[in-house]
Amino acid sequence: MTNSTGTTKGKVRSALVIGGGVAGPVTAMALQQAGIEATVFEAYDRPADGIGGGMGLAPNGFQAFDAIGVGDAIRAVSTEMNGIVLRSWNGKKLAEFGTLPGIDPTRFVIRAELFRALREAAAKRELTTVYGRRIVDASQDADGVTAHFEDGSTATGDVLIGADGLRSTVRRLIDPAASAPRFAGTAGFGAMVTDAGVAPTDGMMHMAFGKRCFFAWQVLADGTGFWFVNLPVARPLTPSEQRERGGAYWLEHLTEVCEGDVTPAGRMLAATDPTAMLFAGSTESLPRSVRWSRGRMVLTGDAAHAPSSSSGQGASLAAESSVELARCLRDLPLPQALARYEELRRPRVERIVKETARTNARKAAGPVGRVVRDALLPVMFKLVKPEKNAWQFRYPIDFDAPVG
Ligand SMILES: Cc1cc2nc3c(=O)[nH]c(=O)nc-3n(C[C@H](O)[C@H](O)[C@H](O)COP(=O)(O)OP(=O)(O)OC[C@H]3O[C@@H](n4cnc5c(N)ncnc54)[C@H](O)[C@@H]3O)c2cc1C
Repeated sequence: MTNSTGTTKGKVRSALVIGGGVAGPVTAMALQQAGIEATVFEAYDRPADGIGGGMGLAPNGFQAFDAIGVGDAIRAVSTEMNGIVLRSWNGKKLAEFGTLPGIDPTRFVIRAELFRALREAAAKRELTTVYGRRIVDASQDADGVTAHFEDGSTATGDVLIGADGLRSTVRRLIDPAASAPRFAGTAGFGAMVTDAGVAPTDGMMHMAFGKRCFFAWQVLADGTGFWFVNLPVARPLTPSEQRERGGAYWLEHLTEVCEGDVTPAGRMLAATDPTAMLFAGSTESLPRSVRWSRGRMVLTGDAAHAPSSSSGQGASLAAESSVELARCLRDLPLPQALARYEELRRPRVERIVKETARTNARKAAGPVGRVVRDALLPVMFKLVKPEKNAWQFRYPIDFDAPVG
């Protein structure tokens, strides 16, 4: 497939977007809105329905989704969270965070539902996603960039955008010395339950640092609920490895691991259909990416910057970066566009990555770490003013404003 149209005075007219997760479709829609032709190439041969757990979408993410007109479609498949209550294994409340004045609440979404909403929005705009195209190499010259796929096919455009996630191939093509993501010690599981058998949580998400795992739950007024677990594991587990063992195995294991903690885990796990379990794979952290671009290749989303999975910011930052990248490519010729993009995005994402880095360690704490954590967290949270974090949740994007 060849769709190179060349550039006019360095301005990009066509883009190859690698990856059909969150950043890929958002980038493609934003590029289309910017007047740039975009095609998405996804490694898997079909949409990722039923894959992955649930996630929180921060209000800043919705500001990016709204900038390209998909915010309402995502609101329709997500649930508002009025706040978060953090608890110790013995039920003791460690801290409570409500919504901040003037800032919309975070929303909870099943990952597959988010992917579906984005995919449908992209399809409505007649954007093409080509499945079964795993990028393995790329070549570039003064006229364009060519993606080489595992199946031997190629595609050519003015710019190649790596939206191919944490284990990005495009990152390695841009910088062969780039560090690989590091295993962060836990694996994720979750499920929706139609009859949770637990009192509604008034829009609050409860999260408990259990003795052997981290358990979170929210129950709606109609009795439906969702839960997720971060389970400390000795080695990385992929979603396929989790799935191979089967939902029934994991439900039994998680029930045993959660035993003794004062949470509704026992009841909610018992109410879970083993075939409805969601497997999120292992948590991984990405060391700082030194290079975000080289020539006609550039990164967005997790490929460029991945905050801790507990930050609740990964997908939102991915959406922000993707929209900003499209604005830069619309307004500036290629080398300047990519430099401006990095200048706009790096300070913000690196600050968020830094501030959220320690949460995973708290989830996987051993017995001594647990005692220290439970003693320190309430004090720390009393000292931290929630408004101090409000900056994270405010990122209004005026799509039509020139980036300058
Ligand atoms: C357990 C867990 C919990 C999380 N919780 C949250 C949360 O609560 N809130 C939040 O905002 N974020 C959360 N995240 C992070 C969030 O999932 C990511 O930040 C977000 O999905 C990033 O989007 P992306 O498009 O950059 O990457 P991805 O969603 O990973 O998409 C990348 C896509 O690229 C494709 N791809 C990969 N390699 C190639 C290739 N070589 N060629 C072509 N295509 C390729 C993949 O198949 C995939 O479809 C969590 C992550 C984990 C693991």
